Amino acid sequence: MKQYDYLIVGAGLYGAVFAQEAKKAGKKCLVIDKRSHIAGNIYTEPVEGINVHRYGAHIFHTNNKAVWQYVNQFAEFNRYTNSPVANYHGEIYNLPFNMNTFNKMWGVVTPAEAKAKIEEQKKEAGITDPQNLEEQAISLVGTDIYEKLIKGYTGKQWGRPCTELPAFIIKRLPVRFTYDDNYFNALYQGIPNGGYTAMVEKMLDGTEVRLNVDYLADRENLNALAEKVVYTGPVDAYFGYKLGALQYRSVRFETEVLDTDNYQGNAVVNYTDAETPYTRIIEHKHFEFGTQPKTVISREYSAEWKKGDEPYYPVNDEKNGALYAEYKKLADVEPDVIFGGRLGEYKYYDMDKVIEVALDVAAKELA
Ligand code: FAD
Repeated sequence: MKQYDYLIVGAGLYGAVFAQEAKKAGKKCLVIDKRSHIAGNIYTEPVEGINVHRYGAHIFHTNNKAVWQYVNQFAEFNRYTNSPVANYHGEIYNLPFNMNTFNKMWGVVTPAEAKAKIEEQKKEAGITDPQNLEEQAISLVGTDIYEKLIKGYTGKQWGRPCTELPAFIIKRLPVRFTYDDNYFNALYQGIPNGGYTAMVEKMLDGTEVRLNVDYLADRENLNALAEKVVYTGPVDAYFGYKLGALQYRSVRFETEVLDTDNYQGNAVVNYTDAETPYTRIIEHKHFEFGTQPKTVISREYSAEWKKGDEPYYPVNDEKNGALYAEYKKLADVEPDVIFGGRLGEYKYYDMDKVIEVALDVAAKELA
């Protein structure tokens, strides 16, 4: 008999959900993380009394009632609704593209007028067989929206002009013919009062957690402690990159405290021109309707990923998909190890999906 039933590598959302379920089932777990804090990428830390989302803005949204009820056991959620705005050389437009956007862009008032305007621009462009992202976007929403709200932003995101990006990146563009600025089409949405770290802390309540412990640096000793391992770190790192490294897209955050109580009047402002080097500015206090005298902002820069950088978004192209499939074959036959989460499965997961999957895996495992 080993000391623990499960060694959970990673104190992020996946690891915390699994730990919580295992504890409920009477199992003994040890959670480790190589970082100096719990909560993984949803970690929030107080700065000037404001919960700062260190690894990027996180807005909880879901259509899954069971997941919503699950998270509400560990936190009370506020009524935050994501309504980002776009700043194009000082012109402000509401997102996602909706009647407010079209009214500002063209002065149109009714959905019929907005549809007619888009149709007219699509027709004028006359693109029947889009060959790149620019042509695809114009064929979907016309020239004005493309020029002011898509071209610069998408170019910065991918580090290449839209004419050099493949058309398939945008199959559809959500266009809404109502005056509705709510970004997510989700039944439930909000931010946990007090931040995400407090929520994860509650999930891990009663489970032993050791921080600053890198599983891969001490694998044998750590394995000796537990019957099974739940691994939520990068799958390629687990196997010593023996088939090659999976690629990611990275983001660089520049965070600053400002001596003003309200810098931009909204949590999320996208800079959609090509000249501004960052893609967005996040003003963290607005996620929780903060009234502190100061404010904290993070400028987001889209960045090429190099080995050793923080991995953020998996690159869902053919090459990386095929490489992951090979690692998955190895993972599937690795005895007594469950691979999970965004890094363990090389998959972009929203928080609600990570919870859904972790609950599902835990239910099967612990049955
Ligand atoms: P992680 O949170 O990454 O946890 C994995 C943990 O494993 C990390 O703490 C890591 O330190 C640890 N670890 C790795 N290797 C080792 C090792 N060798 N030894 C010990 N520990 C190790 N989702 C939403 O629903 N809404 C949003 O608004 C949203 N915004 C996002 C913005 C950005 C920029 C990104 C990148 C993602 C966003 N997400 C959002 C998705 C969300 O971040 C993920 O769903 C969630 O973080 C996944 O949790 P996880 O436990 O799988 O991974």
